[in-house]
Amino acid sequence: MSEQVTRELFDEVMVPNYAPAKVIPVRGQGSRVWDQEGREFVDFAGGIAVSGLGHCHPALVEALKTQGEKLWHLSNVMTNEPALRLAKKLVDATFAEKVFFCNSGGEANEAAFKLARRYAIDEFGAHKTQIIAFTQAFHGRTFFTVSVGGQASYSDGFGPKPGDITHVPYNDLAALEAIISDNTCAVVMEPLQGEGGIISPTPEFARGVRELCDKHNALLVFDEVQSGMGRTGELYAYMGLGVTPDILTSAKALGGGFPIGAMLTTTKIAAHFKVGTHGSTYGGNPLACAVAEAALDTINTPAVLNGVKQREQWMREGLEAINAKYHCFSEIRGKGMLIGAVLNEQYQGRSRDFLTASVDQGLLALVAGASVVRFAPSLIIPEQDIREGLARFEKAVAHVVGA
Ligand SMILES: *Cc1c(COP(=O)(O)O)cnc(C)c1O
Repeated sequence: MSEQVTRELFDEVMVPNYAPAKVIPVRGQGSRVWDQEGREFVDFAGGIAVSGLGHCHPALVEALKTQGEKLWHLSNVMTNEPALRLAKKLVDATFAEKVFFCNSGGEANEAAFKLARRYAIDEFGAHKTQIIAFTQAFHGRTFFTVSVGGQASYSDGFGPKPGDITHVPYNDLAALEAIISDNTCAVVMEPLQGEGGIISPTPEFARGVRELCDKHNALLVFDEVQSGMGRTGELYAYMGLGVTPDILTSAKALGGGFPIGAMLTTTKIAAHFKVGTHGSTYGGNPLACAVAEAALDTINTPAVLNGVKQREQWMREGLEAINAKYHCFSEIRGKGMLIGAVLNEQYQGRSRDFLTASVDQGLLALVAGASVVRFAPSLIIPEQDIREGLARFEKAVAHVVGA
């Protein structure tokens, strides 16, 4: 079967909104992936920060098989056991008291923004609809979420956009303060910007955003689709910041590769999604929730979360050592297993070249914009795979810089 599937077939039958790499991976185990030809790759990408426990983790495979032989689907006319078990565990592990399930990060954010609008309109009146978000932010590809996202190139060209959305620069509290008002219903932020270039908030900024929201009765929405589920070494990044949002969205590593999204909030806010106000056919799907429960059980342990901090250190040391030889990065930034190697002046705009060279050396990596190479390995990647991946990345770097 796989002999007949070629990269050319993609161009023949797929909508051309992606430009996938030449290699066609067919199998994965842990932090290694193999392509059609049996070529092996070290995985520093995890999809795009999705495979938090690597590929085919035994606990997730077991959960999928067990649930797969029991019950795949129920409509939301019924409750189902896996969804309620997962919701209970998310509530117990976080600030949240209520959970809404969906199938992706974009859908979780769509729910969050609709809820924030509904809450503000119900509680304070029809004027309170402004959503403030940050430039370079990414929140998904539905029309509402892509409009709240801070990259006009993703949202332009589709006709009239959802209105009353304002963008200010990240880490610029004065800019937020200048624009926030009693008309603001929500401030939306990633507590570690992913797609925008792996940018951490300063602690003062995070605290300041919370204070401004409180002052103006605006909800603070944390998009933890990428930063959540252990990625930063905390179950959710807000825990490390010491700033608690009103609504939190989770997806990507939540299902470890099985599609699921979740919106978490308080009882008071959740009450505004009354029966019939929002929904999703597949939201709370038993297969997805069973896998996510296994992922949460596995990740939310001191061993895994502390292991992320250790792995961050190995990654940083390795990347700094490469940079000491080849002088191509201005900074290694990020947190936990979400790390950005920022290209310096000389290599601006060339992150794709580093990516392509990495694939040639047997390493899967990512970019975050044109000038940041992004790494999002499994939270439990073995030390030897980190060392091997870094060795391959060094060869890729040598190739790009022409050494
Ligand atoms: C990936 C991502 C999304 C979108 O998630 P999808 O599952 O692709 O809809 C939203 N927000 C952030 C921060 C992301 O990284």
